[in-house]
Amino acid sequence: MRLDKEVQEFIKRLQTSAPVDITGIAKVLGLKVWESSNFDRGIAGKLFREEKAPNSLVYNIVVRAQDPLVRKRFTVAHELAHYLLHRHLFATELIDDALYRSGLSTPIEAQANGLAAELLMPWHLLMPAIDIPIPSLAEMFQVSEQAMGIRLESGREIAIRGSVGRSRPMA
Ligand SMILES: [Zn+2]
Repeated sequence: MRLDKEVQEFIKRLQTSAPVDITGIAKVLGLKVWESSNFDRGIAGKLFREEKAPNSLVYNIVVRAQDPLVRKRFTVAHELAHYLLHRHLFATELIDDALYRSGLSTPIEAQANGLAAELLMPWHLLMPAIDIPIPSLAEMFQVSEQAMGIRLESGREIAIRGSVGRSRPMA
């Protein structure tokens, strides 16, 4: 499942510079973002909806307050991805454990992680900085070095696929 072109464009206009203001994007999209110090150690975050008034649903993201900032940012992005792609798949709340497993299927969780990476490390901001070493890039985008490494690796695959797609048989 992909995002609507319109939503994609809307989000891109909010990704103006690194680090991406992920909480700001969630808020612009109408969600509330909280941090909780009462989460069990094994819980990274959750997404839940409340009916504020008849026909008026408000979605809330809650992240574990004690987690490091880069992790909290990734959790916000992961839950926002669930909101954008999967909010029809759960009744009232979705709870992700520390490995981002919520009871939804593994492909669904992988989709949420993929979109989270796109939200935090959009190519239009990453490409101009691509020669910077991973630790500095991770700091610049306020993501973990691991998340940045995975993102760059996936980009390399896309680049390879793209160049194969555009290539012609040699004469
Ligand atoms: Zn999840």
